[in-house]
Amino acid sequence: MTDEAKPAPGAPEEATDFIREIVAADVKAGKHKTIVTRFPPEPNGYLHVGHAKSICLNFGVARDFRGRCHLRFDDTNPTKEEQEYIDAIEQDVRWLGFDWGPHLYHASDYFDRLYDWALVLIRDGKAYVDDLSADEIRAHRGTLTEPGKDSPYRSRSVEENLDLFGRMRQGEFPDGARVLRAKIDMASPNINLRDPVMYRILHASHPRTGDKWCVYPTYDYAHGQSDAIEGITHSICTLEFEDHRPLYDWFIENLPVPSRPRQYEFARLNLTYTVLSKRFLLQLVKDGRVRGWDDPRMPTLSGIRRRGFPPEALREFAAMIGVARRESVVDYAALEHCVRDVLNREAPRRMAVLRPLKVVLTNYPEGQVEQFEAVNNPEDPSAGSRSVAFSRVLWIEREDFLEDPPKKFFRLAPGREVRLRYAYLITCEEVVKDASGQVVELRCRYDPATRGGSAPDGRSPKATLHWVSAAHAIPGEVRLYEHLFMRPDPGADGDLLADLNPRSEEVLAGCQLEPALAGVTAGARVQFERQGYFCVDPDSRADRLVFNRTVTLRDTWAKVQARGAS
Ligand code: ATP
Ligand code: MG
Repeated sequence: MTDEAKPAPGAPEEATDFIREIVAADVKAGKHKTIVTRFPPEPNGYLHVGHAKSICLNFGVARDFRGRCHLRFDDTNPTKEEQEYIDAIEQDVRWLGFDWGPHLYHASDYFDRLYDWALVLIRDGKAYVDDLSADEIRAHRGTLTEPGKDSPYRSRSVEENLDLFGRMRQGEFPDGARVLRAKIDMASPNINLRDPVMYRILHASHPRTGDKWCVYPTYDYAHGQSDAIEGITHSICTLEFEDHRPLYDWFIENLPVPSRPRQYEFARLNLTYTVLSKRFLLQLVKDGRVRGWDDPRMPTLSGIRRRGFPPEALREFAAMIGVARRESVVDYAALEHCVRDVLNREAPRRMAVLRPLKVVLTNYPEGQVEQFEAVNNPEDPSAGSRSVAFSRVLWIEREDFLEDPPKKFFRLAPGREVRLRYAYLITCEEVVKDASGQVVELRCRYDPATRGGSAPDGRSPKATLHWVSAAHAIPGEVRLYEHLFMRPDPGADGDLLADLNPRSEEVLAGCQLEPALAGVTAGARVQFERQGYFCVDPDSRADRLVFNRTVTLRDTWAKVQARGAS
């Protein structure tokens, strides 16, 4: 189903969160002809699930109110920004199911205008060139309890400021020699208003403007004006920018901007067992602690895509957690719940043996092959069925056999009968071991009268095992993933890296897969019966498929919710 076909969840008449309530009220009051929002990433890393919350909110509001949402790169810092990140961000937003149409913008598109507006502030005596070093500026800034001190350069004349700023732009001074600051109030209780830096000298090439500039606007100076230029009606951002709002408003009030955006803040997404910070994720990539930005353990959108999370699940998750101003930490299991919900409906079922143990059916004729019909998806009859080959030598899961089973173990054991899914009841008669005592083969009898899995006399074993015919199986690699961190609150003791889970990835190289899996391509998602949901990794080759475990079958989150409700 496309997004268009779905009823808009937060339609104006039934606003589902405080942002939509504000927008609905503005629409009702006739404040705006068109609602315009934007998603404004800085291209200094890959997007993570926190960004997905912001994307779903901004694009979702635009969709619900029939407005539009811009994608704008806040590319004001060329030393940290790269084309690779720009491309990845565009790909991720599209993958999530959103479309900015022709409305792709860059803060760098506005560099000329921002520069001219800086001249306006200088001429009005509201900005000045400061020669203090970064450290000195910091020392002058004061603290939350103490006011700041004026820079000795604060009282420069307009002419001197225009001259110096022009020469900064011409490249006469080295990096860090001077900055342009807004002249607001060094004693303001809001530190953001203590003469914030507007421009710094950076002799750095920019991915879009090349070497045209050697002075670059700060994020704080560029951000609000970019919104104003684009006619953004509702500038939605996370709470850490609340204290910056008076500064953004100051620029807007003091500049001849074409529109006056209003900023609204919401609480950022925090998730247990992970860290949502581009800066920290970049460190993991740089230090080689993961396979890259798209490592399936990473909370990046490219990582969870590779892991197999469907985009619908992220949209479902965003709708489920909602939008509020209260800070909270969401249980990672809630996200996994949404993933299972979608995959349960959509993923075809297959049989795969991850840690194979050989079973020989001693009374099954050599060379005989039977085909059994297997349901592709019990949740979706239209998915049909497939046939699965059965023969004398099979693979079963090593953990489905115990030589000396404890009381509650109902799977295969010496002398015990179990059902093979879709096929027969079999009984284990002999255990074959190698010299080291390791079980290498089970010799079993099958009961020909139980074809399809039911016995004429009604006996019914407690366990049903998945299996793969050895002669028909295709080999594969399966990568099992656990949380990236060992604890729900990584870094709580002050050291994030120390909390990394050393067992977050386990690679199983010798898996045996049902032949219907041949030909699957990267990104395909399946359920391996009894094991979980898996996704084909781009490392796959035609002769060696690689699967990532997306999520196991057990939904702990749903259980906790059910318990809470009862
Ligand atoms: P990070 O801290 O990971 O570097 P950021 O806030 O610096 O993230 P930006 O590129 O500036 O990243 O973010 C783009 C938008 O995404 C901003 O509007 C920001 O508020 C929003 N955003 C970032 N992280 C989250 C989060 N965890 N939850 C919700 N929104 C977020
Ligand atoms: Mg940021």
